[in-house]
Amino acid sequence: MTDVCSPAGENLLSVKDALDRIRASILPVRGSERISLKRALHRVLAEALFAPADIPGFSNASMDGYACRCEKGQPFRRTLVGTSMAGHPYSKVLQPGECIRIFTGAMLPQGADCVAMQEHVQVDADSVHFPGNLRPGENIRLPGEDIAKGQLLLQSPKKLTAMDLGLLASAGIYHVRVKRPLQIAFLSTGDELTALGQPLEPGRIYDSNRYTLTGLLADYAAVDLGVVGDDRASLRQCIIDSAANHDVLITTGGASVGDADYIAAILAEIGQVDFWKIAMKPGKPLAYGKIGECCFFGLPGNPASVIATFQQFVAPALRLLSGAEKTTPLRLKVRCDSTLQKSPGRQEFQRGILSQYEDGSLTVASAGKQGSHILTAVSRANCYIVLPAESAGVDKGEQVVVEPFSVLLQETEA
Ligand code: AMP
Ligand code: MG
Repeated sequence: MTDVCSPAGENLLSVKDALDRIRASILPVRGSERISLKRALHRVLAEALFAPADIPGFSNASMDGYACRCEKGQPFRRTLVGTSMAGHPYSKVLQPGECIRIFTGAMLPQGADCVAMQEHVQVDADSVHFPGNLRPGENIRLPGEDIAKGQLLLQSPKKLTAMDLGLLASAGIYHVRVKRPLQIAFLSTGDELTALGQPLEPGRIYDSNRYTLTGLLADYAAVDLGVVGDDRASLRQCIIDSAANHDVLITTGGASVGDADYIAAILAEIGQVDFWKIAMKPGKPLAYGKIGECCFFGLPGNPASVIATFQQFVAPALRLLSGAEKTTPLRLKVRCDSTLQKSPGRQEFQRGILSQYEDGSLTVASAGKQGSHILTAVSRANCYIVLPAESAGVDKGEQVVVEPFSVLLQETEA
């Protein structure tokens, strides 16, 4: 059986070839700015950052307990002479025969070499009985144990995560140089589209794509240009104006071959844009190219197609454009717990739900109806079940390849 949507002889480009072509055409943005750490989440680091000091900066307790100089072999006794709390160190030097109460994160006083857990000591007024198996260094975090002074903290280009912000903050770094942000705009096209909050006239639908795109573009400061109707002149003017002011312009809808689909004709006039029919489902029509300096993505209109083409093409392109480190999506082979319908012809990105049994093994099931207009399955899904073009369907129990939504691996040099 062949794919009814791909008549014989139709020239379809594979997903891999389309992505390779997009990647080959992209140059990362130039220019950088210095911003406060608070604003740096998801931005791409433009400098290497080194630790200005040891972290931790001083020996401290990893447990609540008692600090002393330990004696090897047999239980011993010390006199309690003070307390070290986090932020409030015991300022004197600990003398032989002395110990102090100490809390997690509190500075270890000079003269102490270990911390006994409070559960392991017996306290009798100011006399503390320690166990015989304490060793020097026990329950102590050493200076520089996390990072030594001068050590590389983060290398450029790194797209900063929440964890990176914590790492930099621990080193006292509160300004970072990052690559300049991408200027991204997106718009929806179609006379049937109605903005949320407005009543629906007969034959009209709510514009869901712009909400999906708002979410998919949350890592970037993208501008929502709203809806442009199926009017060739206004669509043309809007595309010319926004391409002039942005690094990236994304449209949804109007990209196929219907009477009201003007995107292809407009782009042929104003840019170097290729129209590709991708051997992919959902998401066959895709326009990609340049209008002046602006990268243009003309995505299909159907919601599931928008999401799949965004994730497969636009997301990696935006990472490259923003200058971030190279990544590749995680793909796993797992057992499929559903029977999947498919005709040979196009690579499919069926929406799936990946879950785990108690023994740790993974399994995937279909997330529901797979039509490109169906949003419920995409909303339920947490992964794609990636079926090769030649596949003629999957029987329950077979192994399939899944791509979890948004798990990126660092790309290794081959
Ligand atoms: P088109 O590519 O313009 O022919 O659109 C293909 C399908 O996607 C049609 O059913 C449209 O109504 C639908 N569609 C287009 N744009 C949107 C949008 N922004 N939100 C939801 N559905 C849309
Ligand atoms: Mg349309």
